[in-house]
Amino acid sequence: MRSPFRFSSRDVAIDLGTANTVVYVCGAGIVANEPSVVTIETTNGVRKVHAVGDDAKLMLGKTPDNLRTIRPLRSGVIADLEVAEEMIKHFIRKAHGGPSRFSRGPEVVISIPSGATSVERRAIRDAVSNAGAERVSLIEEPMAAAIGADLPVAEPIGSMIVDIGGGTTEVGVISLQGLALCRTVRVGGDKMDDAITSYVRRNFNLLIGEGTAERVKLEIGSAVRPGDGTGPTTRVRGRDVGRGMPAEIVLSQAQVAEALSEPVNQIVEVVRTALENTQPEMAADVIDQGITMTGGGSLLRGIDTVLQDSTGLPVRIADDPMSCVALGAGRTLEDQVLRGALLAA
Ligand code: ADP
Ligand code: MG
Repeated sequence: MRSPFRFSSRDVAIDLGTANTVVYVCGAGIVANEPSVVTIETTNGVRKVHAVGDDAKLMLGKTPDNLRTIRPLRSGVIADLEVAEEMIKHFIRKAHGGPSRFSRGPEVVISIPSGATSVERRAIRDAVSNAGAERVSLIEEPMAAAIGADLPVAEPIGSMIVDIGGGTTEVGVISLQGLALCRTVRVGGDKMDDAITSYVRRNFNLLIGEGTAERVKLEIGSAVRPGDGTGPTTRVRGRDVGRGMPAEIVLSQAQVAEALSEPVNQIVEVVRTALENTQPEMAADVIDQGITMTGGGSLLRGIDTVLQDSTGLPVRIADDPMSCVALGAGRTLEDQVLRGALLAA
């Protein structure tokens, strides 16, 4: 029988994000990073998985009647349990390079938003067990992100992490392997995309899809207005609301920054609230250490500067910010001390 403290190469850590799922295999590192999207095919009332991940995301907004593209996680929690389970199964299979070669299921550690309720925690546990895991442990996302970003989580030093994902922004202050404080707001990359969609509709009478809004954000999105003039531009296609016909407009970075100002301000606000509620000794550490950002949203141009200006604290974006949660969860599974402290069932 294997020691409870020794990982096996079949064990996996999963960052089940609202936008992307990242999978880490013990001893091997990150093996998959794909959109948390599933396409379901319905034939004669029977539902079946048609595509998962990258393949499914390409189909968003473009499926015929018998296919439906689903994002089973919304705002960090499972909105469609059955589909989420199928997705987890797919990723575990992928992590093992095909159908499991092992006689027993893997141990799986999966990250959960710090704000998840006990019902939501139970739902995630069940989904992972049903997907074939032999043992399931949960780790809070801000903790995993901090470990993945190399913050000194085990020391008596307060470290602040801000993770901007697709559905939520989570702020955590960590010290002595514990989450001393956390704040969550249901604002992240999706709300930024929605803000661009509404802006385009309001100002140009043009309806655009979620894929288009995200592309605009990635191409020219910015948390700050460009210093000189209107900045770079991009072409946007959609359907004109009045005429009902396809149409094209040009958007500038200044316009996109204006569209994004509301979600960006909401993110700044939650960080400020967290700082106001941090105990004085730990707040002193945060002044020293600064704030570390993770998650895809931290890649929005200028968001670090906005946060720095509004808090007066140094802000750093972690290396490879979209992998930190999976890296941290994986390291926890591999490291005896962290594992003993954080994954005790
Ligand atoms: P989650 O943990 O919820 O799955 P991620 O940390 O994977 O989320 O981040 C996904 C979000 O980050 C998406 O909304 C995506 O559009 C956004 N994102 C990724 N890269 C960038 C970028 N360069 N600029 C702005 N947003 C980005
Ligand atoms: Mg995340």
